[in-house]
Amino acid sequence: MPILVMKFGGTSVATLDRIRRAAKRVGREVANGYDVIVIVSAMSGETNKLVEFVGETGQFYDAREYDAVVSSGENVTAGLMALTLQEMDVPARSWQGWQVPLKTNSAHSAARIEEIPPENILAKFGEGMKVAVVAGFQGISPEGRITTLGRGGSDTTAVAFAAAFGAERCDIYTDVDGVYTTDPRISDKARKLDRIAFEEMLELASLGAKVLQTRSVELAMRYKVKLRVLSSFGELDDAAGTLVCDEDDIMESNVVAGVAYSRDEAKMTLISVADRPGIAAAIFGPLAEAGVNVDMIVQNISEEGRTDMTFSCPTDQVARAEKAMQAAKDSGEINFHDLVADTDVCKVSVVGIGMRSHAGVASQMFAALSAEGINIKVITTSEIKISVLIDRKYLELAVQALHDSFGLESAV
Ligand code: ADP
Ligand code: ASP
Ligand code: MG
Repeated sequence: MPILVMKFGGTSVATLDRIRRAAKRVGREVANGYDVIVIVSAMSGETNKLVEFVGETGQFYDAREYDAVVSSGENVTAGLMALTLQEMDVPARSWQGWQVPLKTNSAHSAARIEEIPPENILAKFGEGMKVAVVAGFQGISPEGRITTLGRGGSDTTAVAFAAAFGAERCDIYTDVDGVYTTDPRISDKARKLDRIAFEEMLELASLGAKVLQTRSVELAMRYKVKLRVLSSFGELDDAAGTLVCDEDDIMESNVVAGVAYSRDEAKMTLISVADRPGIAAAIFGPLAEAGVNVDMIVQNISEEGRTDMTFSCPTDQVARAEKAMQAAKDSGEINFHDLVADTDVCKVSVVGIGMRSHAGVASQMFAALSAEGINIKVITTSEIKISVLIDRKYLELAVQALHDSFGLESAV
């Protein structure tokens, strides 16, 4: 039997009624002749609640117990989905990550999948089971402890299963009917794309578009998984969605495919550090060790042997960054006059493979922002993206201005 992977996100399993609607879609694919692996998220809001509970126990908690707690939301929906399917006379059972087993490394709260041996589930399919409902987001470490794959990780569970089982397709059902030119919650002019290239989706995801977890796109690209994003709320037959595919499979693409944003960024500046060989390593080494995800970096030109070093990181890592820099100063590794944190910034990015062959995207972007009176604080570019750091209060305005400037309301 061909295998299909169907993933349902938090809003798609938020109530028993929605689980029933999702189960109907699954039942239909079984009727179409597939053995189905269903990956479920926790009911929407559930994981946030569990994360908060853990935070309330103390500031420096054991990451292994964090995973034990936050993985539990998916166990509930996996069981409920299996029960709902059974009620519809579809032979189904639930699997927690460790039962599969979905093997990961030991990086608790951000674990990487190492292996998914398919034998156990295939054996059950051989015995007549039609649907394996697997709890997304979770796995088991070499030490036998429960791990989780990072927020949004059920997408990655789904793609990894599709790769491991050679599935015909991996369908990601969510609360929007595909990948849009920008977050449809931010702009009502956002347009759904019929197709998007892996590289573009990868950039959009890593720059903040949470419709797919970044790692899931990486895996789909590497293992050539046929990946679709579609709505679980539309009509049963309405299955257009967005196909994430190779760039060669896109007939005509826009220079800019989409605009992404990341709301909670912070800009930190070390004032007056010695400009000497090794200074960057002396600053960014301790930050990396402290688990600070540094994104943009700018070093000013130096004056009399001293310079300012600016970097950005997520706002919730500011305290950690400050502690690491203070410790490096106290131990004499670095010396700086002051550390200034601006926690009211956000990052807005434009992404498109057309930029490779098309000049002038950066200047058009800067002109569009300047026309709205938005000041750019930091800029970074890569081959297919340009990102700027701006004041958070301009986020919506900037996204809209860039969407307009690049004509995305008429994108397909
Ligand atoms: P799920 O719970 O199904 O995993 P998520 O909330 O993780 O759903 O992801 C879907 C959300 O991603 C949408 O509701 C939308 O607000 C957001 N999003 C951000 N950027 C985009 C985009 N470019 N296209 C579609 N959705 C986007
Ligand atoms: N429930 C997890 C989260 O909210 C995983 C997921 O939904 O993908 O991050
Ligand atoms: Mg998600």
